[in-house]
Amino acid sequence: MKEAIVGIDIGGTKIAVALGNLSGEKLAIRNLPTQTEIGAYAVIESVSQAIEEMLAEHRLKPVSIGIGCPAPLDIENGLVMSPSNLRAWNNFPIVGLFRDRFDVPVILDNDANTAAIGEYVYGAGRGYRNIVYVTVSTGIGGGIIINGEILHGVSAAAGELGHSIVQPEGIRCNCGSNGCLETISSGIHIARRARERLKNGEASLMNELAASLEEVTAKTVVEAVRQNDSLAVEIWDETCRFLAIGIGNSISLIAPEAVIIGGGVAFATGELLLAPLRQLVPRYVSMVPADKINILPAELGGESGIYGALVLAKKTYLRNYQTYAV
Ligand SMILES: [Zn+2]
Repeated sequence: MKEAIVGIDIGGTKIAVALGNLSGEKLAIRNLPTQTEIGAYAVIESVSQAIEEMLAEHRLKPVSIGIGCPAPLDIENGLVMSPSNLRAWNNFPIVGLFRDRFDVPVILDNDANTAAIGEYVYGAGRGYRNIVYVTVSTGIGGGIIINGEILHGVSAAAGELGHSIVQPEGIRCNCGSNGCLETISSGIHIARRARERLKNGEASLMNELAASLEEVTAKTVVEAVRQNDSLAVEIWDETCRFLAIGIGNSISLIAPEAVIIGGGVAFATGELLLAPLRQLVPRYVSMVPADKINILPAELGGESGIYGALVLAKKTYLRNYQTYAV
């Protein structure tokens, strides 16, 4: 039987499972819903069954598994530590479960890091040495790659761009700080800011686009921006301005060759987000010349993370079974 590496990308609503060969080509992919209601162990059981079916179907045997999962994680001990979209997964031994089941080395990293790795190896980051990857989604995440390696830092907490503080007097974030970038420019908070303004009785097309105030989402805001609604445009401008501040700060610290923007909000908006960022970010960066600031869209869409998980699996396999490293 031929050997396969396995990638798993865990999200709050969906889990992607992929098989790849040792050259790094993706051979098969399957998406499963994240049934949080059945409990973490049952979810991992159904993911394991899916992997077994896929391996059998392609007559492959696994040699390593790479997992991307929402933070916080205890990477050294292979534990999930109650991420905001998987609250009940607390101290959950995800690495041990897959290692016991498949008897192969298993590596875990956070989903923003795996997405950064995916883009670095297969997507918009190809050919660069240093990149910052930013995911603008329901939350805001980040991954930093320096000389081809993910920067983990203390407690693997590096790259948390969403929790860099851009407004010290701002509202309380889930993480406990005030005024994190995530409390302004993430999908959830774009919607919250819109709802607060609408609640004050401000006129806006958003009142018609959503059935009720509770149903106003980031998508509603974007739809109204596209129709030139002035309140939505104001909220969007603020979203872009604070994102530009956060991204600018990361450029001042890292001076990366490229900043790659991915995540659901970025994919859904494209140039609506990228054009203002290209214009605004240089205003917040003084030490890196504007013409050296490269802001690029992610190229792999929703698959950056699963590709990164495959890269992790491959590296783990090579590190464990061969005398050279990649
Ligand atoms: Zn925070």
